[in-house]
Amino acid sequence: MGKIVQLPDELSNKIAAGEVVERPASVIKELLENSVDANSKWIKVDLEEAGLRTIKVIDDGDGIEPEDCQKAFFRHATSKIVDEFDLFRVKTLGFRGEALASISSVSQLTLRTSTGDQSGTELIVHGGEIKEKQKHTKRKGTEIIVENLFYNTPARLKYLKTIHTELGHITDTINKMALSHPNIRFECYHNGKRIFFSPGTGNLLQVVQQIYGKNIAQNMLKINEYSLDYKISGYIAKPEITRSNRNFISLIVNGRFIKNPVINKAIFDGYHTFLPIGRYPVVVLQIEMDPYLVDVNVHPAKTEVRFSKEKELFDIVKQAIYEVLHQQRLIPQGVKKE
Ligand code: ADP
Ligand code: MG
Repeated sequence: MGKIVQLPDELSNKIAAGEVVERPASVIKELLENSVDANSKWIKVDLEEAGLRTIKVIDDGDGIEPEDCQKAFFRHATSKIVDEFDLFRVKTLGFRGEALASISSVSQLTLRTSTGDQSGTELIVHGGEIKEKQKHTKRKGTEIIVENLFYNTPARLKYLKTIHTELGHITDTINKMALSHPNIRFECYHNGKRIFFSPGTGNLLQVVQQIYGKNIAQNMLKINEYSLDYKISGYIAKPEITRSNRNFISLIVNGRFIKNPVINKAIFDGYHTFLPIGRYPVVVLQIEMDPYLVDVNVHPAKTEVRFSKEKELFDIVKQAIYEVLHQQRLIPQGVKKE
């Protein structure tokens, strides 16, 4: 008798959830990504106990059609890609079709959604099991309520930190989303109190001000640079404004917040000797390119990417930063551009 068994869906979803859903902030990241992909203009996050009790995300996006609602919770079920061609040209934040299956397998989840032109749907899923499905009247958009996260995975629950720490991760996630999408109005409430707001006017500097404060916003320089394959825009702080860690460097590629050591290095090289040793700049860099030139399918959390023309990207980022500092006459005569 062989020993290998195919694991049931319920168990494989929990295994996948281990990768995608680490803490309340990761649930919020996935739900916000879905709202952004659904063309929302307004997204509200409502939390109780740093999301450990309740996470509610409401949007005014496209909604989900009644016949798709159950499917949305299947593993590898997505409306965003259909084949390999699409996988290498991903234009949306999501594409793995794993978030809702994973989140609903480790929580008690309620979905209320409507596409606006037909009656909406309400679906209740507990620990991956569909409990209730009924018609629901609602304006266009989607509301997802995630309660009692990790109620059925006690090991994960134990690993969670204090409300204060979890709220820190959540704030970080929402800040990143707002910086990546200045045209969307984000609101976040914690235990009934508003803790974040971005106006959604499309003005990135306004979002920078909401997050970092007026002093930093007033000391930012606008950057704008093109090459054949890349468009670089955003803001960099004057070199006299520095921080003690690199958390104030935000890299956004086609609307996706990413981490990348090569671009970080290009930023440092662009600042050249202007940064005191051990200090880091405040930077919000938006990079736009053909999605074909970036592979986003590197890690389940989708924050690591691979660029196919990395050297060209390195050079243009470095140049964009160098030039704006040079124009401001912040770079002394005699420092040559390499
Ligand atoms: P993915 O985002 O990778 O496609 P998810 O599990 O996050 O996978 O979501 C599954 C599907 O559910 C999405 O492809 C989308 O069609 C639908 N969906 C999820 N959230 C929303 C939302 N807020 N508005 C509209 N559709 C949604
Ligand atoms: Mg998704």
